[in-house]
Amino acid sequence: MSTTTANRAPAAAAPFDVAARRAEFPALHQQVHGKPLVYLDSAATTQKPRAVIDAISRFYERDNANVHRGVHALSERATKAFEGARATVARFLNADPREVVFVRGATEAINLVAQSFGRPRLQAGDEVVVTTLEHHSNIVPWQLLAAATGARVVPAPIDDAGDLELAALERLLGPKVKLLAVTQVSNALGTVTPLEAVIALARARGIPVLVDGAQGAPHLGVDVKALGADFYAFSGHKLYGPTGIGVLWARREHLEAMPPWQGGGDMIRSVSFEKTTFNEVPYKFEAGTPDIAGAVGLAAALDYVAAIGLPAIAAHEAGLLREAEAALLAIPGVRLVGTPRQRAGVLSFLVGDIHPHDLATIVDRQGVAIRAGHHCAQPIMQRFKLAATARASFALYSTPADVEALVRALHAAIKLFS
Ligand code: PMP
Repeated sequence: MSTTTANRAPAAAAPFDVAARRAEFPALHQQVHGKPLVYLDSAATTQKPRAVIDAISRFYERDNANVHRGVHALSERATKAFEGARATVARFLNADPREVVFVRGATEAINLVAQSFGRPRLQAGDEVVVTTLEHHSNIVPWQLLAAATGARVVPAPIDDAGDLELAALERLLGPKVKLLAVTQVSNALGTVTPLEAVIALARARGIPVLVDGAQGAPHLGVDVKALGADFYAFSGHKLYGPTGIGVLWARREHLEAMPPWQGGGDMIRSVSFEKTTFNEVPYKFEAGTPDIAGAVGLAAALDYVAAIGLPAIAAHEAGLLREAEAALLAIPGVRLVGTPRQRAGVLSFLVGDIHPHDLATIVDRQGVAIRAGHHCAQPIMQRFKLAATARASFALYSTPADVEALVRALHAAIKLFS
């Protein structure tokens, strides 16, 4: 699926037993509205494998205590599990564990960078370049920063296929640009951005780059050393892990130079009313009791993915996307929104003039869970002069039978409206 070296999943892949994998996801095996659930909303959040659910339960049943501060056995176990999770994340990213900051999710990671890295550096007249493909969480934090500093947020355009216009992006990367924020994969169109080329353009001009990996990490993975970016953000819950936990990876020298974002316990070395000193990185950015069980669950998810192999997952999903694309296009009146050169995870579409919300409601009655709306990416909708699309999104447990069920449900919806 990926052609870049920064994305970790190469084309070759081991055999993949989707039936065996599906059996490991309890939530997939239920009926909704009297029909077997067909879950095609994994871009919003993935279902969780038994291994993740069990890891979280085990933590609360045996090891639960607060981290870093206690000398008793449970606190030592909890600390070991939490720091072990950090090491697992570091392996997933090919990073140094000291560069791994636990946060609530991609949104919090981006806000942290905006406030701690961006705010001290930006002045009136400076620019932050984002792309039109971004999720609101990679737009609004920069707008808040711009409002506070007098800087401007400048969008880089996309073409009619939903691909970045690289030449236009290059023209925007002038001397006023202090940061470029770009997604790895668009959650609304499925576009895989050419990160290597984009990052090379920015680096040639000394512009730091933040990559939003919320949709990229689950399908392509990442090697942050090969990537050459400055920041990478992702969320556990889109990668088979729990909600409430995510990661900011940042170059060590940035983390060292950045001031703390939030104050509280754990992020300090010593506190007095005369002088407070801060903990070393990454703890300087982890104020308060962290989501310990969340980190444990995320590590279990990453171990689960590693055991299967991202290449195998990527190949399975790529095959399924091709099938789904062909099957949808064979339905009269279906139009794909976004036909990017490289796609991961997501298909956005319209069916005749049926409103996407009506469509999603009708197919839900058939047990088929898809999403309708602007997908927290209103600038993309504006680019295509749409208010909303329907979106089917896929994960390692998705099957050709899911695609067939979607096609049947869409036919039924069309009949209802004709
Ligand atoms: N970026 C992208 C591309 C996303 O798809 C999402 C979630 N839909 C986010 C950022 C934000 O992730 P979270 O809500 O988990 O913080």
